[in-house]
Amino acid sequence: MKVGFIGTGNMGNPMAANLIKAGHQLTVHDLRREAAINLLEMGAEWADSPKEAVPGNEVVLTSLPVPRDVEAVVQGENGILEGAAEGSIYVDLSTNSPTVIRRLHQVCADRGVIMLDAPVSGGTYGAAAATLAVMVGGDEDVFNKVKPTLDAIGSHVVYCGPIGNGSVCKICNNLLSMGIGVLMAEALTLGVKAGVDLAVLADAIANSSGGSKRLTEKFPRFLFKGNFEPGFATALAAKDVRLATDLGREYGIPMELSNLVDQRHVEAMFRGWGPEDSDAVARIQEEKAGVQLRLPE
Ligand code: NAD
Repeated sequence: MKVGFIGTGNMGNPMAANLIKAGHQLTVHDLRREAAINLLEMGAEWADSPKEAVPGNEVVLTSLPVPRDVEAVVQGENGILEGAAEGSIYVDLSTNSPTVIRRLHQVCADRGVIMLDAPVSGGTYGAAAATLAVMVGGDEDVFNKVKPTLDAIGSHVVYCGPIGNGSVCKICNNLLSMGIGVLMAEALTLGVKAGVDLAVLADAIANSSGGSKRLTEKFPRFLFKGNFEPGFATALAAKDVRLATDLGREYGIPMELSNLVDQRHVEAMFRGWGPEDSDAVARIQEEKAGVQLRLPE
């Protein structure tokens, strides 16, 4: 399939690489050309703007930081809609606001462009291994048409219902992931302070009812190594928690604990840790407890 791919950052780059490896022909664009060099070496073509990444491609994908980036790339000057023809398919892989997604879907539909939301989960390591979960919202026939393409980036590509539902699933997931991260840091600093070796404690919990992927997949690659190179930037994690609490306000859902998790991310941002990996948030708890959660290599 001929695919346009916009946003070749920490997630977009390995996803685009896997699409090329699966035999798709890619046209790529990013604000930073250097973020796509390896893809160009693999045979992708470069486009100077989102608009130029669209013509001739059967599907256009975006993987961009925050909702306003997606809005700019879709509707802005030299954006996707300027290059799209009637019947073009556009899929947003970013973690986005369901409300923004539903609005953009309508803007696209008014121009005859079909939009799906398909946010992904599984980290940069899942993106590299093509084992992402992909949560798709939108027209089911269009989902079935693009699923073989999405299968090249993920091992669990699921249809979640009408437009925006993929983003709802993703935001609920990330709220849990970030919330578990905060609580996990509290539990681990407690256990270590109370005398248990971190490796023993992590193994005990990983194999018990309190275990989670945050403990077995994320912390070992980042927090436990003292590696705060993103990964998944704290600024993006803070964005996702805020998307969840905003959605809660929009729907009138009480979310007391989620707002505590939000404030912990606000504090991490205030400390200037936005560009660091989201495991940096646990350093606030490490400071409070006087315990460092590090494992020897
Ligand atoms: P990133 O910042 O590494 O990559 C985003 C890329 O988009 C950058 O290369 C940037 O230059 C480019 N970009 C920004 N604005 C642009 C524009 N107007 N036009 C063209 N390119 C533009 O971010 P990421 O970690 O790859 O995350 C991308 C999305 O995926 C986010 O929505 C994030 O929340 C989500 N996500 C990230 C992870 C993760 O582990 N990093 C996991 C799941 C989902």
